[in-house]
Amino acid sequence: MNTDPIKANDFDAQWLDIESDALAAIRRVGESGWYILGREVDEFERALALLHGVDHVVGCASGLDAIEIGLRASGVAPGDRVLTTPLTAFATALAALRAGADLVFADVDEQGLLDLGEVESVLEAATGPTTILPVHLYGHAADIDGLLALGQKYGCVVLEDAAQAVCGAQGSRPFGSVSVGAATSFYPTKNLGALGDGGALLTSDERVARKARELRDYGQSDKYLHTSLGLNSRLDEIHAAVLRSAMLPRLPRALSRRAEIAARYQAGIERTDLRLPAAGLESSWHLFPVFANHSDGRESLREHLAACEIATAVHYPTLVTDQPALAEFEFGEFPVAARLASTELSLPIHPYLDDADVDRVIDAVNGWRHDR
Ligand SMILES: *Cc1c(COP(=O)(O)O)cnc(C)c1O
Repeated sequence: MNTDPIKANDFDAQWLDIESDALAAIRRVGESGWYILGREVDEFERALALLHGVDHVVGCASGLDAIEIGLRASGVAPGDRVLTTPLTAFATALAALRAGADLVFADVDEQGLLDLGEVESVLEAATGPTTILPVHLYGHAADIDGLLALGQKYGCVVLEDAAQAVCGAQGSRPFGSVSVGAATSFYPTKNLGALGDGGALLTSDERVARKARELRDYGQSDKYLHTSLGLNSRLDEIHAAVLRSAMLPRLPRALSRRAEIAARYQAGIERTDLRLPAAGLESSWHLFPVFANHSDGRESLREHLAACEIATAVHYPTLVTDQPALAEFEFGEFPVAARLASTELSLPIHPYLDDADVDRVIDAVNGWRHDR
């Protein structure tokens, strides 16, 4: 039996798997002599658009930038409001602040996704233009249909943070295809990770795509013609080449492997003191969160799994609304998000785990003893 430590991500196994495709892609870029915004970015954008199911993909330097660019390209102006979740990566909120927006938050449901009732209460009280920025947290599909209906009622645009959910969808509607767009990230741990930083805006809105292409390249609408104050946020040719030739071909299998592991956890973990993701949830399974009854339980399980050489992580230990960088703002209380933040533990779910690894995690979780 394999008794190696079980990691949260296995970049050694990934490199062994992709090495020859990645090196060939890098050589292709080196030999082309063209390193920024060339054929590789173009072809990767087309290939991802086809696989994900949107008309346009605009490669950017990071997920953070892709959210900012998505917000600005869809019309968010300084002083507008962006409504999002407190239970997310700090980048979600930071992107909105960088777009000049004022942040407002709504509490989440038991899966960790924006709660529609809470969103509606915030919108009822809101004045002025508001953009809703839901997060497909853990890869779970936020209710875009429901949010779009609220958006119609209250005059809001919906832009999705799909950093954890590339190629995800609600039913037959890929993220970003019916809203104004979705931002994703190619940070190495994400479902489609690069060998470095990268991100993209996914949209079927031609006008938004054009504006985003402008914003990522200093706001140029034509060579040396600057029609807006943009960023330098271009996806590098070398990352685009590796993403298209080494990562994208493996993505469908990696996503189905993640779903298989999630199903194995759902079937194998037998505990009344841990809550698993809801049965039948639509998810890209970027993470597999389990929720303990209280924070001591989470710490106890985390220590037990560490002793079994099983890596875990917490997403996220501190709500965005409680971060010191935002101490000057008064956002209110978010009891469900706060409870999830203090009780969540993410089990390993990367695609290089085999069934024996997953069973080791299941046995360790089922064998956990604690006092309360
Ligand atoms: C990773 C992540 C981001 C930021 O992406 P980067 O590429 O690291 O900038 C934004 N939102 C969520 C939900 C994320 O998980």
